[in-house]
Amino acid sequence: MGFSSEEKIAVESASMHDGDKLLTKTSPLAPWPVPDVALDPEGTHLVFDWEQASVATDRDLLNDFTKIEDSRTALQCAKRWGPLGLCEHGIPATHNPHSFVEGRMRLGCYPSGWEPVDAWVRYAREARALVLIGANLRNGVLGGRGQWKHVLIAPASRVGRSVEEDRLCLGGALTSWLQQGQIHVLFGWPDLATDEPVFQWRAGSLLLAVGVEIAGAITRTSGVAICSGCGELFPPARRQRPGRRSYCAECREKRIDKRDAERAYEARQKEKAAKSGQKRRSPRKGTVQ
Ligand SMILES: [Zn+2]
Ligand SMILES: [Zn+2]
Repeated sequence: MGFSSEEKIAVESASMHDGDKLLTKTSPLAPWPVPDVALDPEGTHLVFDWEQASVATDRDLLNDFTKIEDSRTALQCAKRWGPLGLCEHGIPATHNPHSFVEGRMRLGCYPSGWEPVDAWVRYAREARALVLIGANLRNGVLGGRGQWKHVLIAPASRVGRSVEEDRLCLGGALTSWLQQGQIHVLFGWPDLATDEPVFQWRAGSLLLAVGVEIAGAITRTSGVAICSGCGELFPPARRQRPGRRSYCAECREKRIDKRDAERAYEARQKEKAAKSGQKRRSPRKGTVQ
């Protein structure tokens, strides 16, 4: 999947120009554990092994996640970032929490460590749609109509009519995404012998971490743009105009922007030539001999 070159969108930009990768900033979240993962023999599920858990520290999360389109890309992303936290029902385990009723523990759902690739692809599409629509709405432009169908919670009858209504729907959709993820608020002394206590939030699942990144991408003053060359998200150096091509530093270095401009120029010349040829021919067409 990834972002196509047509999906150039941009948001106002201001302060985040260092480097060219989107979201290489500091996250409000502490690192979270990432277990080992493999595809099951059928290739339909990701199987996680918590015995091998390590910790996620790097931050290309949103780029990695929005590119998921099949079992291969899902596995790649899961290896680096961990499980979504889905239960045996294939939905976020938070839908059915453990609870205490009259002093007795009632067990709810828990992350099963066995997650359908289909669900990963579905969430990736939704994440991508939320970023695209959100970036447009940040600019006061209606979010792509074709994208709303990936946002499961948005009522089709309400979206795509006004910026205000779309903002309301996007806010609701992203809030619900964040609520499905799980956030742990932690306080304590990581090293009991030192005086410095630590107060931090930790993502209870990848779903939450992705939601935080989406919200951050839309909120950030620097905004989001999608490279017309490689389809990666990147922080634009200045405000982009919708409908214009924009390129990340890497693609500019490879001169992809020049190549595209030349191609577009050639295409325009061809079109012009074809049109003038038609004009020359057309009077003859109508002439009766
Ligand atoms: Zn469940
Ligand atoms: Zn690029």
